[in-house]
Amino acid sequence: MSETAMTDGSEVLRHPLLVAGEAVHRATGGELRVSDPSIDLVTDVVAQAGPEELEAALVAADRAAATGEWSSVSATDRGRVLRRVADELRRRAEEFALAEVRTAGHTIADARWEAGAMADVFDYYAGAANKHLGAVVPTPDPGLGLVLRVPVGVCGLIVPWNFPRRIAPWKLAPALACGTPVVLKPASLTPITAVMLGEVLVEAGVPASCVSVLPGPGSSIGESLVTDPRVAKVSFTGDSSTGSHLMAQVAPNVTRISLELGGKSAAIVFADADLEAAVEAIPYSVFANAGQDCCARSRLLVERSVYDDVVAALAARTERLVVGDPTDEATEIGPMISEAQRATSLEYLDIARSEGAEVVCGGETSGLGWYLSPAVVAGADNSMRVAREEIFGPVVTVIPFDDEADAVRIANDSEYGLSGTLWTRDLGRAIRVGTAVRTGVMSVNTNRSVRTELPFGGFKRSGLGRELGLAALDHYTESKTLFLSAD
Ligand code: NDP
Repeated sequence: MSETAMTDGSEVLRHPLLVAGEAVHRATGGELRVSDPSIDLVTDVVAQAGPEELEAALVAADRAAATGEWSSVSATDRGRVLRRVADELRRRAEEFALAEVRTAGHTIADARWEAGAMADVFDYYAGAANKHLGAVVPTPDPGLGLVLRVPVGVCGLIVPWNFPRRIAPWKLAPALACGTPVVLKPASLTPITAVMLGEVLVEAGVPASCVSVLPGPGSSIGESLVTDPRVAKVSFTGDSSTGSHLMAQVAPNVTRISLELGGKSAAIVFADADLEAAVEAIPYSVFANAGQDCCARSRLLVERSVYDDVVAALAARTERLVVGDPTDEATEIGPMISEAQRATSLEYLDIARSEGAEVVCGGETSGLGWYLSPAVVAGADNSMRVAREEIFGPVVTVIPFDDEADAVRIANDSEYGLSGTLWTRDLGRAIRVGTAVRTGVMSVNTNRSVRTELPFGGFKRSGLGRELGLAALDHYTESKTLFLSAD
């Protein structure tokens, strides 16, 4: 990273991309300018990959997969390397946090928490590397029936802009634990921390040939990456329509693919809940990261008998959220990522009004950057577009329900099924509703839906496959049956 002046005289940080572990400062794709969304100014410039860099990355990764350069390192030693990655990420936590605040608009408090979380993911898979076991299966024939887990081959990893540092490790750490070479394509809006992370991987001891980080347009570099026959496995996080497009793109090569996509998750508040605790917590489950979260509980289903009280209390709590400069430690909600992303949310607020719902609070723009105050939409029903479509902004739609069955019906009346929360003191109800709502993750009396140790992913149009936990290791290996005859 170096600091240089742009033609207009402003100072920017310049970053290379990584091809087979090597820093490339002048790439054939030119350069990519990255803006601070809180002030709408270019702060960073990164080399952008073109076809030549992609080809070089794939040649190196393919050769590494064929020679077993990384997979032949013992799983225990691969784990040791990942542990060094985690240590280095903790040492450089503040540098990573500041880069995320500057380029993704995350609040400094969130960014510091995320710095620890990304190190934790590498720690977890460092420990898991030598515990991804095969099996010995009894057969009628004399001999040994072995089921091995072998590295899948070159992995093409594509990540979005909303949580650049959280999501890249969910793919990189299990892939590297399994001994596979990786080619990572970050989102064009937020490529910087991905390049920094790639540098840490190589410094910690992952073979250079196995690490490429290629900022570049999804429509060209991303598409060429996923359709290349040398790529054995694609792991993608992003929009549901992009995900389904990629499924079709990889079909001719039967490339393995896992998808973590959009959501329209529900928080369900029953009248028996600790309503004070629920109203205190709920704003963070939808407005954190300015609502740009695939797990955002962007539908709030409230039992009719307490609907008006909950709407009033939620609006009052929401208005107290501190929206502003993400570098300020008191800030709870920073800017949205871009003008276009904010415009989409504003458009949905207009749609809500035109469909007969009421914007009870929020929806105001302020400052130089892409700020939008969190909005509560009440008087809504589940047929409205604000209840059905992923807005990916700070907007919650509050819908009344009559009883348990009605709550489950409304929650499941969605093309998505990623996350959710139940607020209730009734354990039986928590079990009944928690199992009946068709989402990959459901939390009871807490917002949090992602834990490193537990599988994470969605039903329906929210995705395919699970990240995190030990289950993620299956994505980066193939099952291989080996029979040793005793005859
Ligand atoms: P995309 O799904 O388009 O982008 C996610 C990643 O995929 C980026 O790295 C992008 O690259 C890449 N990509 C895009 N098109 C292709 C392609 N054809 N082949 C391979 N890679 C591709 O999301 P956007 O960033 O465009 O956001 C669009 C909307 O999606 C948002 O407004 C939001 O509503 C939703 N979204 C949902 C997310 C979720 O986790 N549920 C995450 C991000 C967005 P590049 O950045 O260069 O385009």
